Amino acid sequence: MGILTRLRAWGRWKITSRLRSVADVPERLPQRHAILVGGIDFDKWLVFECPCRRGHRVVLNLDLGRWPSWRIASAIPLTIQPSVDEESSVGRCHYFVRKGRVRWIERTNK
Ligand SMILES: [Zn+2]
Repeated sequence: MGILTRLRAWGRWKITSRLRSVADVPERLPQRHAILVGGIDFDKWLVFECPCRRGHRVVLNLDLGRWPSWRIASAIPLTIQPSVDEESSVGRCHYFVRKGRVRWIERTNK
């Protein structure tokens, strides 16, 4: 990764590492760090802590053969398509991640 790419991604969401298995992802991830899980030539999951900071993990399926699936348009800074819309134990979290920034659509409490 070049220095200019790093500077441009400073303080923004980005993919910081690539692992072979979801089991290898650390229990705690820093905010704005996303982990790509997959093999040498395929992406399987994108894992990160939800930007709502209420302590729940987001695991997005990147396998287009399964529904729903997401596409990584850019890794550094991170752009994900389409938006993430999740109902979890804390409530609803609906947001876009574009150019490493989160734009909230809706955030509700349970
Ligand atoms: Zn959340």
